[in-house]
Amino acid sequence: MFLVSLIPAFKDNYIWLLTRGQRAAVVDPGDAAPVLERLRADGLTLESILVTHHHADHQGGVAELVERHAAQVFAPASESITGCTRPLSGGERIDVLGTPVEVIAVPGHTLGHLAYRAPGRLFCGDTLFGAGCGRLFEGTPAQMAASLAAIAALPDDTAIHCAHEYTEMNLRFALAVEPDNPAVRERVARVAALRAAGQPSVPSTLADEKASNPFLRCAEPAVVDAALAHGAVDRSPTAVFAALRAWRNVF
Ligand code: ZN
Ligand code: FE
Repeated sequence: MFLVSLIPAFKDNYIWLLTRGQRAAVVDPGDAAPVLERLRADGLTLESILVTHHHADHQGGVAELVERHAAQVFAPASESITGCTRPLSGGERIDVLGTPVEVIAVPGHTLGHLAYRAPGRLFCGDTLFGAGCGRLFEGTPAQMAASLAAIAALPDDTAIHCAHEYTEMNLRFALAVEPDNPAVRERVARVAALRAAGQPSVPSTLADEKASNPFLRCAEPAVVDAALAHGAVDRSPTAVFAALRAWRNVF
């Protein structure tokens, strides 16, 4: 099994670095420079690149990385990904540094968006965030709600490795949705302490998300009521999700 650490990029992106001895893989290298610097500093050889979706902040560094390292590039088959050598559409099982990784289709943020599930961990790009979820640039609320439901069905102790540091902002929205949820209040304090200490708020656990992320709580009465007060057409999980996502866009 590989070790996982993170490489900060741009303003709030995280590129996940997987290592096993001197062998390395990265998830969503939007920028090559900080990855190359880390590979050089740690004497690592890049074997694999995993891309969750086509946005530039997730694949922008791939071309430069494969110029310097003979890495295979796993990416959504239906999206335009520079240098993709292993097109995927979900349901596959791939090998990453000798560890089996399950590929899960999670359409919504983009239509070809993939999540990569390693033992005990999920690399989910811009689908599920700390206390939030990605915007619906391409998919429908029903697609994203189904993708989040698939993630929610994983074991509670699954570490959730998302691609952005958005948790504090998302928790402000979570508090607006559920002002009386003690798990949200506790997480606000915990994340504030981490960020004040210069630490990332991720990975979280799926249990944490199920307790405090409104987008995974669309059947909770308090969340349903808040969504109904913000335009949900009915109490169905998809309608609740759609109303929350629309509310979040203007929050
Ligand atoms: Zn994105
Ligand atoms: Fe992104």
